[in-house]
Amino acid sequence: ARRKLVAGNWKMNGSRAALAELDAIAQAAAAAPGVDVAVAVPFTLIAPAADRAPALAIGAEDVHERDSGAHTGCVSAGMVKEAGASFTIVGHSERRADQGETSQDAWAKAAAAHRQGLNVILCCGETEAERNAGRAERVVQAQIEKSVPDNADGSWFTLAYEPRWAIGTGRTPTVDEIASIHAIARAKLRMLIGDAADGVRILYGGSVTGENAATLLAVENVDGALVGGASLTAAKFVPIIEAAS
Ligand code: 13P
Repeated sequence: ARRKLVAGNWKMNGSRAALAELDAIAQAAAAAPGVDVAVAVPFTLIAPAADRAPALAIGAEDVHERDSGAHTGCVSAGMVKEAGASFTIVGHSERRADQGETSQDAWAKAAAAHRQGLNVILCCGETEAERNAGRAERVVQAQIEKSVPDNADGSWFTLAYEPRWAIGTGRTPTVDEIASIHAIARAKLRMLIGDAADGVRILYGGSVTGENAATLLAVENVDGALVGGASLTAAKFVPIIEAAS
């Protein structure tokens, strides 16, 4: 059976003072031994977060696809690993929208992260227009096909389904819509990586809260949550950890 993973994504939020939230989050994680808990933070907070909460998995929100070189302003997987990160998010929809990142970029970043020994949470998900056009399934299948490395397995690789229109909006797909996408994602993983697909966790992300977490986490093939806004404070994040346990 796949252990549930509850992962926070602070995005471009937080500060050293905000790292105090990690104390209660780490406590809740310790009280939920059946759940994996992780928090992705801005690059500048990785080292202090890892120092403050050594028992929590601290991660980056992105890495560059190269190991080093002339790439001003970019940060490599090896650098975030040295800072204390154990994982990174790649292919988040905000990077696809704001930085024009593609599924191929997400593939290269996932491969770079794995080379450096980081775990990976790779994001996929359709836009509202794509869903309204009846194309959500096909879009997600194509993203998975282009971005999941051949050697992906559950020891280091996690997929996250985050419909763009559900991010930060308070709207979520129905339970049936989530079940349908997650089943399709699992089937696509199976085509790509065979039996290893059974060990890969597929998270749901997009307006997950303490109120809806239990319902969302009970959906078949939903192996955890990727949480934005509700991960910024322990008061909002801890109930999601509790719902997963
Ligand atoms: P919200 O939980 O704020 O909708 O964000 C989801 C997300 O994008 C996590 O990566």
